[in-house]
Amino acid sequence: MALSEKICPYPAHRMDFIDVPTVLKVSALFNAMAALAWLLLAQLFRIAPRAGQLMAAGHLLRIATQDCGDCMAGWPALLRQAVPEFGQLACMLLLLLALRRMLRNRRHPRDIAWLGGLGALAITAGLASGSGLAPQLAGTASVALLAALAVREVLRGVSRHLTPVVTALTTLPFATLAVVSLAHAAELLLVPGWGDHVLSGALPSPARAVLGFVITASITLSLIALMIWRLVTRIQHLTHRDSLTGALNRRAFEQALAEAQAQLRRGHGFAVAMIDIDHFKRINDEHGHLAGDAALQRCVRIWQAGLREVDRLGRLGGEEFCALLPLDNPANLADAAAVAERLRASLAAEPLHWKGAELRLSASFGVALPVLGDAAGDVGLARADAELYRAKGEGRNRVCVAPDLSGAVAA
Ligand code: GH3
Ligand code: MG
Ligand code: MG
Repeated sequence: MALSEKICPYPAHRMDFIDVPTVLKVSALFNAMAALAWLLLAQLFRIAPRAGQLMAAGHLLRIATQDCGDCMAGWPALLRQAVPEFGQLACMLLLLLALRRMLRNRRHPRDIAWLGGLGALAITAGLASGSGLAPQLAGTASVALLAALAVREVLRGVSRHLTPVVTALTTLPFATLAVVSLAHAAELLLVPGWGDHVLSGALPSPARAVLGFVITASITLSLIALMIWRLVTRIQHLTHRDSLTGALNRRAFEQALAEAQAQLRRGHGFAVAMIDIDHFKRINDEHGHLAGDAALQRCVRIWQAGLREVDRLGRLGGEEFCALLPLDNPANLADAAAVAERLRASLAAEPLHWKGAELRLSASFGVALPVLGDAAGDVGLARADAELYRAKGEGRNRVCVAPDLSGAVAA
């Protein structure tokens, strides 16, 4: 039995219709187009510019190092072994660096450099050993390891924001690459003569050529999907958030309130807390507008830290905010009052240091429950607003709660 039949145990007739050189050309063309697309996005549209450049370099390198049969026939044996192994390793390193940038993971790429260095060392040792098998084994194992690191990277980076299905689809190509590389490493070890076969300049089997192309294409598509996700989250942030403080803007808050009102009918209760910073004009007048801006940012940072993930904080305008507080017990306003009291106390406890001055900040709170059937939530807001003005009238820096329920919680 010929070696190629031993190591490619697929029924030949089933894959006869696949012309391997054509698959390799399509793969090279795909990589060239992908490199061009990433470069266009990076240079013309300034979308993820560094990640785009890294991806483009990775695709170009992939063309230079992909399986090509006897195209390196005239080269010295050492080069024929070294180019594909180092090339694939470099491709994986570029891919990982791009992935990390795309996921906005600011971790130092020290771990990637270490793994890359280790892989390069193993390939070099394999080449020095003079064996046909060792460099391929080292290169394949390195690719498997880096692909596994890519899976971990994606899982860490996106799983908090994406649904499990989308996260799985994003990680699948990298997981497949890790498994296929491991299987290839096992094949190299277990099938006698496989290392020499690869070196002999034979074309890859149709199954192998197609699998290689499918993995490259699916990794590219999953990275494009990641970039679209990044753009969408950026656009969402720009359209939903107040640019100074990062709190929800008025429109997004009103939308969240309308959604909460719709849930009210199903028994999911909530409370609203209107908030107004006390004597804010004085900060502007005495310390300047920039100090006022810093005070607004400080307030939001403190309040966000004191709220749960399910709570929503919106800036309705100027120095007026509103918190939407989902309740476990739909009618228990005391819980919401306790949250408001906590927010009040935490702001009052931490002065803002501004150009040598110590600015004491405080805010007044009005808390109320919403009313069923009030689609936009205006009634609940008006009741909370009335409580807020009561808090102002009673001396500021306090929480007032709708009187029909539990009275006032004063500072
Ligand atoms: P009170 O305790 O009664 O709420 O008094 P106040 O001074 O906080 O309220 P007033 O409504 O008199 O003043 C609000 C000020 O907030 C006036 C406005 O110039 C200022 N302001 C509104 N938006 C911004 C902003 O984005 N940045 C800064 N620095 N100031 C702002
Ligand atoms: Mg005010
Ligand atoms: Mg005001």
